[in-house]
Amino acid sequence: MVSDRHLSIIRERKKKIESNCIFEINLCKYCYKRNFGKKNHSVARHFTNIHVQSASRGICFICKNFFHEKFPKIIDNIKSQLSEFTDYRPNIEIGTILNYQFYENEDFLRSMFQIRGKPNIKYEINSLIRKMIENHTGCKIDHVNPEVKFELVVQGDLSYSINSINKEFYWLGRYRKFRRGIPQKNRTKGENTANSVFDEKEYKCRNQSIESFIKDIMSQTYNINSLKISWTGGEDKNSLVMGKGRPFLIKSNSNSYCSNKNYKDIFTSNGIEIEFERIGHKGVVSIHRYKQLVRILLKLEKKIDDTTDLAEKVSGLVGDVRFRVKNKTVTRRIYEAKIISIRDKDVELLLNMDNGVPIKQFIGGKDPIEPCISEVLNMRCECIYFDIIEFT
Ligand SMILES: [Zn+2]
Repeated sequence: MVSDRHLSIIRERKKKIESNCIFEINLCKYCYKRNFGKKNHSVARHFTNIHVQSASRGICFICKNFFHEKFPKIIDNIKSQLSEFTDYRPNIEIGTILNYQFYENEDFLRSMFQIRGKPNIKYEINSLIRKMIENHTGCKIDHVNPEVKFELVVQGDLSYSINSINKEFYWLGRYRKFRRGIPQKNRTKGENTANSVFDEKEYKCRNQSIESFIKDIMSQTYNINSLKISWTGGEDKNSLVMGKGRPFLIKSNSNSYCSNKNYKDIFTSNGIEIEFERIGHKGVVSIHRYKQLVRILLKLEKKIDDTTDLAEKVSGLVGDVRFRVKNKTVTRRIYEAKIISIRDKDVELLLNMDNGVPIKQFIGGKDPIEPCISEVLNMRCECIYFDIIEFT
């Protein structure tokens, strides 16, 4: 039962509160909605009415008007960084580091109004930026394996910076060789004997490799100077490479965003053709295994009269091929093997096979391989050349 004395204390207190000034806390619409939803809130503390209001004017108690003043500029900044990807939408991640004052302001308000279990300011900033960037750019958010990561750092005075960190980017390249004598890789330094008789152009032409041409293109067209090439096998310097071209992979974590106006353009130089295409990290796995159609010109030790027997032996090459690489047995497969032509001691073969089989070794090298053409034909065979006709 409430006594008269109690009632008078409550009445007294109410009078005091009413007579005291009202303390108003301004919040921007983001901070208000995040903490209070749609309800109006006020509490009485120490004879002061504290009233929270969602105000479009004034300074937000929590974010100091970060959402209204800085947010649009930040979105524009990230959008413009991503707009440099013209052909490709990288997967991205966006994170925020906030000055401690933002958390303190919000915690102060939450303890006063006993607000629990609501997302905090950092959560809201991150979700808003991610959603807007996804909608504006078409880039998908990927927390696990982003290709570009943005880190927004906001100071107490609302100054901010946006750092972007690129992970590795990938290009799928394909090269074709229409002239014999072009090596895949650059010569090692020891071999590279500069001869003063050549002028620079001639020297470059004589020393051009697939690797040097790739590096020239990446540097001159894409402005990428640091890169790593992963080959998917190789051929002889004197082999031609035709059809779709041999695939290779370029990895770079270069920070220079590239303008890809030459996307899927074909670059040609002196018997080499190269094309590039940007791929995501998921595409990388599948490019290392493929089949190739190989034409081999052999010179046999002696002329063969029984061509039927020879054809049978050649078709017997179909099946698994086993050889050792770094103390491991590797198995590849031959799907088709046939003779195209026989002229005296010269025999031309066509083989449909997995990539990765060392072809000169397969014809009759010193290192063990099973089967080996020289052994199957029971005579020494010399490889005049082999060409890669197509990649499937
Ligand atoms: Zn605010």
